[in-house]
Amino acid sequence: MRRFTIMIAAALALSACQTPPAPDDATLYYGFARLDPDREEIVEDAWLVVAGETIVRTGAGAPPLGRYADRRDMTGLFALPGFVDAHAHITAGPHKIEFRDGAPAVTIESVDEITQFSARMALAFGVTTVRNPGGDPVANARYDENIAAGVWVGPEALHAGAIIQPPPFVGGAFAYPQTEEEWNAEAARQAALGMTYFKLYQNLTEDELATGVRVAHEHGLKAIAHLNMVSWMRAVELGIDGLEHALPTSPDLLESEQREKYLADLGPNSKFYYRWFELADFDGPLIGALVELLVKEQVQVNMTLGVNEIVYNADRLDEIIPVEDHRFAHPQNLAASLGFLEAGRAGWSPEDHERGRAAMPKVLAFAKMLYDAGVPMMLGTDGNGGGPTFAHEAALHVEAGIPVWNVLRMITSDNAEMLGLGERTGRIAAGMEADIVFLRKNPAEDISRLRDVELVIANGKAHSFAALTYDVAELE
Ligand SMILES: [Zn+2]
Repeated sequence: MRRFTIMIAAALALSACQTPPAPDDATLYYGFARLDPDREEIVEDAWLVVAGETIVRTGAGAPPLGRYADRRDMTGLFALPGFVDAHAHITAGPHKIEFRDGAPAVTIESVDEITQFSARMALAFGVTTVRNPGGDPVANARYDENIAAGVWVGPEALHAGAIIQPPPFVGGAFAYPQTEEEWNAEAARQAALGMTYFKLYQNLTEDELATGVRVAHEHGLKAIAHLNMVSWMRAVELGIDGLEHALPTSPDLLESEQREKYLADLGPNSKFYYRWFELADFDGPLIGALVELLVKEQVQVNMTLGVNEIVYNADRLDEIIPVEDHRFAHPQNLAASLGFLEAGRAGWSPEDHERGRAAMPKVLAFAKMLYDAGVPMMLGTDGNGGGPTFAHEAALHVEAGIPVWNVLRMITSDNAEMLGLGERTGRIAAGMEADIVFLRKNPAEDISRLRDVELVIANGKAHSFAALTYDVAELE
C-alpha cells in the first residue's frame, strides 16, 4: 500500500512539471537500460537528470533538450537504485584478542584510515546506504559527520552503537551495563550520538535482553539482536525489532527429543552453527509458531547467509573468498577476520565441516521459508560494507529460491523501506536522492554480475569504480 502511494506521488510530481528547464548544474545520463525492481521490468534506452543531490527527471527515448552542465553517454550499461547493505560494520577495525592481566580481552577498535577504505570499497561495489549493526558510537558519529561534510567518500549509514555483550568483549565497540542506571545511561549516550539501533548480543541472559529492549525503546532506539541460547521466540515476545543472522540456534526452538540431543552435544565450540540445523524440524509446532509470530509482529530478519557458509567452509576459505578478492578488504581487517575464522573452528574435524556443508541447504530453506511466509527480510553481508561479498550474499538468496527480481528489490527498495529511508532512497524516480548504480551486465540474468560496477552515483555525486579502487593492487 505504502509503495503504491509513493508511486502515485512520484507520478503526480512528474506530470506537474512536464518540461522544466534543466537546472544549469544538471547532469544528463542517457542511453542505458534501467532495471525497476518494484515493477520487475527493464526500461530500455532510458535517461535521467540529476541536479544537486536529487533525481529531477527520468524517462526513456530521446532525452529532453536543454542546457546541461554535463551529458554522459551510458550506452550498454544497466542502472539500478543504489544498493543497501543492511548488515555492514562500516566503522570496524580489526578484531583483536589480547591478554590483559592474564585474562582475554576481545576488542574491535575503530581506525579512521580503515573506515575510510571500507567506506570507499562499499561505494565501489554499488552500496550507497548501510545499516551498521554495531560499533563504537563515537566513531559512528564521526563517520556521519565526515560523510555529510564530503570529507570522506562512502555510503550514508544508520548505526547501532556499542554492542551490548559481557566481557571478554571490551573497548569502545562494546558495553555491558549492569544497573538500571547504567542501562539508561548507555541507551541515552547512544541516542545522543545519533544512533538508530541498539544491538543486543548473544551472551546476554533473558533478563538482560528484556532490559535492553525496554531501555532501547525508552530512548527511541530500535532493538536488534544476535542471539544464541535465548530463543528468537522469546526475543519477539519481549518486543525485539530485528533479528540478525540465520542462527536461531536456541535449544528452545527444537522439539524435545532433538533438544536433548542438541544439549548433550553442546561444547565450547561453534559446532552448534550446523548442529541446530541438523536437528531443527521446520514442520514442527515450535518453528511453526515462531514463523507465525515473526509475521504477526513484522520483525525484520537479516539472514547474512554468507556467515553460515563461511563458517562451514572455514577449512577451505579460498573457495568462498577467492584470493583475488582479498584486495577489496583492508589488509588489517582481512588478516584479523581470517585469524578469527581459524580460531572459530577450533575443535572442528573434517567431518564437522562436511556436516556443516551438508546443513547449508537447510539454512537456505530456512531463509526461503521465512521469506515466503511474509517475514520482512533485509539483506546484508556482515562485512565492512559491500565488497564482492555483497553480490555473493544476493546470489545465496537467489540460490535459496527467492526469485531474482525479489532479491533485487530486497537490496534496494525493500532494505531502504525497512530502514525507514524509503521516501528518499532505494528507487530511481524524480524527487528521490540520486543514489544509482550502473552495472556492465544485467544482474536479472545473472545475479553474480551485481559486482560489475562501472559507476556509482551517491547523493548526486558520480564515482567510477576505477577511481574508487585506485589504490587497490591488481593481482597477477
Ligand atoms: Zn555483525
